[in-house]
Amino acid sequence: MTMLSHAKARINNRLARLVGTTPFRLLNQKPMVSFTFDDVPKTAVTVGAEILKEYSSLGTFYVAGSLLDSPSPLWTAASGDDIVALHRDGHEIGCHTFSHRQTCDLDAAAMAAEIERNGRFLRSLDDTIRIENFAYPFGVAAVLRKSQLGTMFRSSRGIFPGVNSGKVDLQFLYAIPLISGQIDCDAIDRTYDEALRCNGWVVFYGHDVAASPSPYGCSPQLLRHALEAASRRNIQALTMSQALSSAGA
Ligand SMILES: [Zn+2]
Repeated sequence: MTMLSHAKARINNRLARLVGTTPFRLLNQKPMVSFTFDDVPKTAVTVGAEILKEYSSLGTFYVAGSLLDSPSPLWTAASGDDIVALHRDGHEIGCHTFSHRQTCDLDAAAMAAEIERNGRFLRSLDDTIRIENFAYPFGVAAVLRKSQLGTMFRSSRGIFPGVNSGKVDLQFLYAIPLISGQIDCDAIDRTYDEALRCNGWVVFYGHDVAASPSPYGCSPQLLRHALEAASRRNIQALTMSQALSSAGA
């Protein structure tokens, strides 16, 4: 990203939190947690999904079709077969833009084309994949694209840190990094304790799950801690779709 594009993204993200919001009151009966993985690195599937399974939990994996099977300096990417395997195991497949371009760089037609292409790509992998939820590439929301996303998705997740509770903007859901350099076990515990106090919905986001993760991923131990600490507090891990249904959305 250029400096100008960075500045545009930052301003868009700030505005998107404040402007064009349609508040929705979450009606969940008890606190919830969702584990989400973006892009999708191979280890999110081979390690992350396996650890979720140990806790009988399901995750949400936000796919940008162009990134699958493509080389990355950060990690080995998942394949189309990996995504199909996740889907058949009951995990939710979510939507990024196909090209992974940030939404504030797209006009309405380009945005629609990105989503159409990603949806078509995912249905070509398995035509029973249903896309209901979106995550902003780079976590950057676009003030002008939010209402458009609202017509296509039940929710859009950013990376603005916070626990979702009470009145939320479904097209600007907060999320907490499950990223080894950004959160530790104590901070995860404090996040859950806050969720218990406010009957909140914690949405974690991350990428790879590896012993030596990228700067955007986490270790298997951190993911295990997040699952263990949730289960100790009786906080149920749900996919984004399941959590939204529990919240009456
Ligand atoms: Zn991404």
